[in-house]
Amino acid sequence: MAQIIIKNLRKDFGDFTAVQESSFTIEDGEFFMLLGPSGCGKTTTLRMIAGLELPTSGEVFIDGEEVSQKPARERDIAFVFQMFALYPHMNVRNNISYPLKSQGMPKAQIKQKVAEVARILGIEDILGKPVGGLSGGDRQRVALGRAIVREPKAFMMDEPLGALDAEFREHMAEELRALHDRMGATTVYVTHDQLEAMQMGDKIVVMNHGVVEQFGVPQEIYDWPATMFVADFIGSPSMNFLHFQGDVAKGDSTVHLDGHSFYVPEQLQGASGDLVFGIRPENVSFSDSAPYRALVVASEYLGTTQIVTLDTPNGTIKARIPSDRPVKAGDAVGLTFNPRNVTLFDKGTGKALL
Ligand code: ATP
Repeated sequence: MAQIIIKNLRKDFGDFTAVQESSFTIEDGEFFMLLGPSGCGKTTTLRMIAGLELPTSGEVFIDGEEVSQKPARERDIAFVFQMFALYPHMNVRNNISYPLKSQGMPKAQIKQKVAEVARILGIEDILGKPVGGLSGGDRQRVALGRAIVREPKAFMMDEPLGALDAEFREHMAEELRALHDRMGATTVYVTHDQLEAMQMGDKIVVMNHGVVEQFGVPQEIYDWPATMFVADFIGSPSMNFLHFQGDVAKGDSTVHLDGHSFYVPEQLQGASGDLVFGIRPENVSFSDSAPYRALVVASEYLGTTQIVTLDTPNGTIKARIPSDRPVKAGDAVGLTFNPRNVTLFDKGTGKALL
């Protein structure tokens, strides 16, 4: 079990900076997600925590001890890769027990530990089987078994479910999370899949171009994105951006969009310049009498809800509304936005004004 502190961590490859000064804390026992698009520096960050890559500058602390320049073998961290590399010529039992054998653990103790891990993972009945013929899920379980059997301080997982098909992936994600909840070991998990991060993570770091854009619990990141990048990356469909130039007068508590006024929360009052009004699709509602008018472009049926694409005076947006509201392309509708769910961004910096 371990708390992991990252302080101003940076990695340069030649004159390319893969990770810029990054700081965050992973609490003991947390399931922690490193999320972002391909090439944003997630894997490099994970490798620096594990000791597979040494930082150019900055520090990594594991359980209060500075390990920044220590090699991986001195950090007591287990790494689970996407391509679960198992030893193909060995059976399941030997694959799992291998790390203990190489530590020189007595046979009786190894037997007991493997039995315990097999029970946790529900793979007791395949211990004698060769790994070659196993299904993807069982291979994944064996790889996890090999990682957890030596009871490391923390687990590093780099897109461990990336190679699985969608349905099975969801099942394994649930299993992995349940396993974590039973074992309570600190886990750092890399993914580019925002849904996976939101569903599985206790906390999320969102990275882009080597920079930590935001760090927090999933709901905070969804409801209060710190930047336009986060607002766009998280959520499906993503947050709508309505661009406008103007002032949000102090004390007036309204924002003026194309001549129409919307209430804005007190903390956003006083903003001015090139502003972006951010609203999630589920916080856009239809109201026949609302003065802010839009034209329906298309509607996509999703069961209980539908996603409606709309042309507004400030750009194209999407609304998620109940399916029982009849809508068709060409309809003129009035829109209202729930003021509690508006995020205002500065267009120049891309940062939320809060
Ligand atoms: P992906 O999901 O595609 O793996 P990522 O967010 O994990 O992306 P990293 O693998 O950390 O990204 O890579 C970040 C950037 O650093 C990329 O542009 C990558 O090409 C570069 N990079 C990573 N390792 C090296 C290396 N050893 N030498 C040079 N550049 C590297």
